[in-house]
Amino acid sequence: MSDPANQVPALLCVDEAGEAFLEDNNKPTILCLGEPQQIYSARFRVQVVVNMAAFYDALGELSLVAILLCQHGADEALPVIRQHSNSALKLVFSNLPCRFPLDGRLPDEAALIAALTAWQQAYQSFPELEKMQNPQDHLLAYLALRGEQLLQPERDLASAFSYRYPLIELFDLGDSLFFLRQAVRDELLAPVSLIDRVRQCTHCSHNTLNYIDLCPQCSSIDIKQQSAIHCFTCGHVGEQQTFMEGGRLVCPNCSTALRHIGTDYDRPLENMECNHCGAFFIEAKVVARCLHCDHENDPSDLNIAQIQSFKITDKTKFRLRVASDERFSLDLGEQVSRDYLHWLVDWQVGLSRRHQIEFALLCLSFNRVEQAVEQLGAAQVYRIISQLGAQIKDSLRVTDVICQYQDHSYLLLLPNLPFDHLTVVQQKMQQLSSLVQGTDALAMAVSSFHAPTELQEGDNADFLLTRLLSEVSGDA
Ligand SMILES: [Zn+2]
Ligand SMILES: [Zn+2]
Ligand SMILES: [Zn+2]
Repeated sequence: MSDPANQVPALLCVDEAGEAFLEDNNKPTILCLGEPQQIYSARFRVQVVVNMAAFYDALGELSLVAILLCQHGADEALPVIRQHSNSALKLVFSNLPCRFPLDGRLPDEAALIAALTAWQQAYQSFPELEKMQNPQDHLLAYLALRGEQLLQPERDLASAFSYRYPLIELFDLGDSLFFLRQAVRDELLAPVSLIDRVRQCTHCSHNTLNYIDLCPQCSSIDIKQQSAIHCFTCGHVGEQQTFMEGGRLVCPNCSTALRHIGTDYDRPLENMECNHCGAFFIEAKVVARCLHCDHENDPSDLNIAQIQSFKITDKTKFRLRVASDERFSLDLGEQVSRDYLHWLVDWQVGLSRRHQIEFALLCLSFNRVEQAVEQLGAAQVYRIISQLGAQIKDSLRVTDVICQYQDHSYLLLLPNLPFDHLTVVQQKMQQLSSLVQGTDALAMAVSSFHAPTELQEGDNADFLLTRLLSEVSGDA
């Protein structure tokens, strides 16, 4: 298999006469698994393979423009196609039923050229796509190249939450709901419409739940509806049957003959009886027993999963256009992960509560990077950001902890920092932004927190970091 990682994928061009050709004058290749029922003209090279191993090898073919799946094995082939960096984004057609989304049925020549042209035009508007290597970017690019196709769930009773997201499986992105939560938090995907709401076991997250009525006293499932009688004379409550004596109603406890309902006796509200412990009760206890792991959930505690469709955001389109990942990041030296930062902040909060340890959090955010790139050009923005990065780095101590929290937001944990020093650091940051010419175009904002000075009851890492981020988020 050739390594496509450092090679440029073939670009299909269509000339004025509608002839498709490749930039390097190789013919665009249509790779077919099995014999296609369509005839294509000599402008294409049609490569037919019937063997799976040969097919997988051919996915690295640089002149590849489209794939036709014409024999069994589509379900098996499609994940391999989408996880191969050369074929991840390419058009795939098939007439066979498939568990995964396709680009349509086998096209005739005109339809194929139309689809390839549309795909190619979209591809050219995202010049950074070739650099995309991770599966998440591939999924986002896949959607972007298909006219901003929606990421749709499909009903699937075999799935833990009765739905699956075939595209997330196809690109091997792990747990769908977890992936979607992260992608929404990172503003890469946005929900479009709510399709369903699914309740899940708090223990194993499956939604195969059985709602059962139990005795509220002993939790036995062996309960029944009962006609009971309540004797006014002695207060005894018992099954109707035990009051029947030779055609009369007699209390089995005090032997009083009961004649008139409302005067001598009545029917209690408790009309359920437990066969196990004999308790009478009005309402059974309802639990949602998980048929998967047997855990008994209180129905009001169940996890609720929102099943939604999603679309790519403007931020995603920006990323696909200019690959913000590295070039628009401040180079602040070694960074920690978000999870680790949360852990550290919680630890510092604990120390601060107990021992009055001082620390500060600083949040730096650039709110107009996308717009600045449009206005000033990528090179200029890159220059501003690298200058700023160098200046900020100089003013940090080795013990300071840095985390790029979102694309354009940074959180700094400054341990052992007295309150008056924080003010100095903050002023310094603001001065830096005025020193580097053009920074105002990026709309840099700074927020800060100091402990124990500002530490409140109930503050934790989640809350403090969210608070700092919302303080610097611009309207842009
Ligand atoms: Zn369960
Ligand atoms: Zn009685
Ligand atoms: Zn009972």
